Amino acid sequence: MLKLEDSYRHKGQRKELVKTIRKKGIKDEAVLEAINTLPRHFFFDSALDSHAYEDKAFPIGEGQTISQPYTVAFQTELLQIKPGDKVLEIGTGSGYQGAILHLLGAEVYTIEYQKKLYDRTKKFLAKLGIHLHFYFGDGSKGLPENSPFDKILVTAGAPIVPQSLLKQLKIGGILVIPVGDKNTQKMMRLTKKSETKIVQEEFDNFAFVPLLGAEGWK
Ligand code: SAM
Repeated sequence: MLKLEDSYRHKGQRKELVKTIRKKGIKDEAVLEAINTLPRHFFFDSALDSHAYEDKAFPIGEGQTISQPYTVAFQTELLQIKPGDKVLEIGTGSGYQGAILHLLGAEVYTIEYQKKLYDRTKKFLAKLGIHLHFYFGDGSKGLPENSPFDKILVTAGAPIVPQSLLKQLKIGGILVIPVGDKNTQKMMRLTKKSETKIVQEEFDNFAFVPLLGAEGWK
């Protein structure tokens, strides 16, 4: 059962979590404040809520995970979100990352490949009063009908950078995506300088569940 009740204990645990991810190198104050504001335990079954403020990924059912808070902060920091940015998130999962982007003032389009998760998360975020645009389907191909986007975030591990996602970025837009094999992926940031010029940066290694689909793992 989900329990939508925040308490001093939870707020204290969130502050500690923010300290932990700050120590690990996250500097963007707006990102840290969003993590401090959003009750992560709302996204957990109440029986498991003691794990909500550990800096760890956690199973959310359907073989999927809610990403580690540090990973959410790292990817969000790389995106350099500005209020009003139109952002596409691939891999809605629990909705936690989408909610963080929303708190930063982005207009969030989010797509999930697993129907049960899509249904559950769409209902749940509505209950929290967090309004994202939800889509069900293969996000490895992006969301061409709603493109172009200022930012695109992939929250599953891709074998390659899907060309469809680069096409759906505005000029000046940023794609953040973990790319590698099924166990480890390098975090990458691709900035679209012009239709033909992409600047690519590489960061640390992470371990995501696989990005499935036409431009993901088959
Ligand atoms: N962002 C999520 C959160 O905040 O909880 C965590 C996402 S979880 C690490 C990765 C998600 O990507 C899973 O829910 C998985 O079903 C989804 N996924 C995998 N391949 C996908 C695809 N081609 N299109 C959309 N979602 C996909």
